[in-house]
Amino acid sequence: MNSYGIINFSVLGGGGEVGANCFELNCNGTRILLDCGTHPKKEGLECLPDFKLLDGAPDICLLSHAHMDHCGALPYLCKNFPGTRSFSTIPTRAIADRMLRSSVAVMDILARERQIYDYPLYDHSDVAYATRFLDGLPYNQPFEIGNGTPIELQFINAGHVLGGASIFLKFPGHNVLYTGDISHRRQFLMGAREQLDEQERVDTLIIESTLGATEDGGLGSYAEETERLAESIREVIDRGGTVLIPSFALGRTQEMINVICHLQEKERLPQVPVYSVGLGRAIYQIYDRYADYLHPDCELQPLDRTESLKNVWEKSFVEKLLLRPSIIIATSGMMTENTPSAMLAQSMASHSHHGIFFVGYLDPDTLGYHLLHSSRGDALQFELGAPPVEIVLEDIQQFRFSAHASRQYLLDMVERLNPQNVVYVHGDSDALAWMEQNSSNGARSFVPETGHKLILEA
Ligand SMILES: [Zn+2]
Repeated sequence: MNSYGIINFSVLGGGGEVGANCFELNCNGTRILLDCGTHPKKEGLECLPDFKLLDGAPDICLLSHAHMDHCGALPYLCKNFPGTRSFSTIPTRAIADRMLRSSVAVMDILARERQIYDYPLYDHSDVAYATRFLDGLPYNQPFEIGNGTPIELQFINAGHVLGGASIFLKFPGHNVLYTGDISHRRQFLMGAREQLDEQERVDTLIIESTLGATEDGGLGSYAEETERLAESIREVIDRGGTVLIPSFALGRTQEMINVICHLQEKERLPQVPVYSVGLGRAIYQIYDRYADYLHPDCELQPLDRTESLKNVWEKSFVEKLLLRPSIIIATSGMMTENTPSAMLAQSMASHSHHGIFFVGYLDPDTLGYHLLHSSRGDALQFELGAPPVEIVLEDIQQFRFSAHASRQYLLDMVERLNPQNVVYVHGDSDALAWMEQNSSNGARSFVPETGHKLILEA
């Protein structure tokens, strides 16, 4: 029987939480996965989407962008379902390859040091295989996909990070827009998201809800937060301290390097050395290669404007480094134990004159969150196997440079697109509940948990 217009929707991950984003659309037997991520807070096989929910091999996997919660499980998928074709934007293809290779290295370390025997979930040859079948497409160019069922795919610039895209799919009789992670505000490097052509109808909107629980007033503008950050950095440098800015490897690191260098150029920050460390430097080279995709008004600083730091795991090196004021941008953004930002903070925390400034989201289960909410005299462990460090440092702050759309913007978007079905995903339970309760366009709305299946009719 011809069931065009009806889409069977399954949540393999990312339902009811910000998790291993992976959603299956099954239209008349053609199975398409939207994203294929790993869960940021789970380990081993647990961090994968629930592939058991698939009732057959997927035909196509589409990646919205290269953050690990959207692409981290792609090599595992391709290893288990050989021949699955994938598509992303051209920059996302390059970044995903780099991120996934780094993930192999991290999994190898965790397998050895923490005895997580499921790791590695895939190796370098699996990454090479997955990226061989991953095609990069430009924005705004409709592309025909589908075996038997004609399906049109289009990537639309989502802002957020380099290569980030919303995915527009035209199935016969049913149009679907999956936002992925979107930002409607200009960042330093990234422009705002682009809108779907007004002529296009959206029957089903699958929308991220990251900031659903965050009042819009709690978000400063990019310019205001930049000014507040500059002021705080100046205070630390004036008292002879070093500033650590823990940053996510993809997005925030490249933004922060440019924000800091720009402030120095304008003489709004002292000319102290600026260092960067971690995977963010490798991703920076991809930003440089695809600089055409950045906001036309921004001029990307050359990477060598910041010196690389390689020895952050050597305590004597870090102690010497901290003798002179500097600004250090280091992964990881949430300060996972043993990462460069944690190793630097370990030496900084026992002095009062430094500053640690978080510039992104902090999950309550992370070292970064505990450090931000610590009091003088608390003890925290920064390195597995090492003793906890007594916290003397007090200048620990958080700045709100969000790369996600505000909740009012998300609501307005639902209103404007006026779809028949809205599926809220990628948010914690408070955020999702707020979004569902406050949208009032009369659409059928769904907040599915991972494991749920929906039948979407156009
Ligand atoms: Zn993202």
